[in-house]
Amino acid sequence: MKIIDILNNKKLSISCELFPPKRDSQLEEFKALVKDIAALRPAFISVTYGAGGTESDYTVDIADEIQNINKVTALAHLTCVTSDRDRIRTVLKALKDRGIVNILALRGDIPEGSPFPLPNGYRHASELIEEIRSYGDFCIGGACYPESHPESPTMQKDIEMLKVKVESGCQFLTTQMFFDNNILYNFMFKLLGAGVNVPVVAGIMPVTNAKQIKRICSLSGTALPPRFKAIIDRFANNPAAMKQAGIAYATEQIIDLAANGVNNIHVYTMNKPDIAGKIMDNLSEIIK
Ligand code: FAD
Repeated sequence: MKIIDILNNKKLSISCELFPPKRDSQLEEFKALVKDIAALRPAFISVTYGAGGTESDYTVDIADEIQNINKVTALAHLTCVTSDRDRIRTVLKALKDRGIVNILALRGDIPEGSPFPLPNGYRHASELIEEIRSYGDFCIGGACYPESHPESPTMQKDIEMLKVKVESGCQFLTTQMFFDNNILYNFMFKLLGAGVNVPVVAGIMPVTNAKQIKRICSLSGTALPPRFKAIIDRFANNPAAMKQAGIAYATEQIIDLAANGVNNIHVYTMNKPDIAGKIMDNLSEIIK
C-alpha cells in the first residue's frame, strides 16, 4: 500500500521507526524485534538508512521482512550523500524487486572531510527524489524541520527549499522530533502560507534516556521546553522513572496533536517495542 493513501484517509495513524543492526550476527535477533513492533499493527514501519555504513546494506532486507513476512507496510529510508547514481539505482532496483513502494528520500548528513557532492552524485534530497521518480512508481516522502534544518540560514529559506522538494515529487513530509507542539503548529501554519500542502507526519520521540537526548538535541537544535527539562532534571538518574515519564510525555504530545487535527504521527521507537507498545496501549481508544 502506498503511504500517501494511509495519510490521506483522515483517520489517526501511528507509525513506528526502526534502525538496522550493525552486524550480520545481529540480524536473526533483529527479526524478532521487527515481529514485536509489527504485532502492534502500526500504520507502517520505517527503517532508517545509514549514510554509507554497513547497516545501509540491511535496510532493504529489513523493509522486506516488515512488509513481506510481517505484512505491515514498509517505508525504506534512502540517503544519497555518500552514494553515486549507480549505487542508488541498485538500491532502487532491490526495493522494486521486493515490492517496496514507499521511500523516505534524504540527503543524509555530510561526513566531515569527505568529498561532497560525489562525482555523479547528488547535492540535495530533491535531486534524489527526481531520480526515484524517473526510476519507477514509488510513493516518496522527505524530511522537514519544525525548528529549521541546522544548515539553513533562516526558517524562511528552509521552507523555500522544502517547496522545491515538494515540487520535485515529494508527496509527504516527516518531521524531525520536537517537544513543544506549538512549534509544530507554527511550522504547519508557515508551510500552508508558503503553499506547501502535502501531509505532514509529526515525529515524536519518547525520551527514556536523558543523557542521549541532551546530546541529540544540541546537535539538531531541538528546543527542550521548561516542562520537559524539569522532567529530565528530576528523573535523569532514575532510569525506570525516566522511562515512565518519557512515555507519558510522548503520549500527551500525541493526544494534543490528535485533538488539534494532526492525524499522522510517527513514533521514533528506537528499536524498543515495549516503549512503542505502552504508547499504543495508552492510545487504544483514541486510535480506534
Ligand atoms: P535536504 O532536503 O537536501 O536539505 C538539507 C539542507 O539543504 C537544508 O538546510 C535545506 O534547506 C537545504 N536545501 C535543500 N534543497 C536545497 C536546494 N535545492 N538548494 C539549496 N539548499 C537546499 N539520516 C540518515 O543518515 N539516515 C536516515 O535514515 C535518516 N532519516 C531521517 C528521517 C527524518 C524524518 C529526518 C527529519 C531526518 C533523517 N535523517 C536521516 C537525517 C537527515 O539525513 C539530515 O538531517 C540531513 O542533514 C538533511 O537531510 P534532508 O533530506 O533533509 O536534506
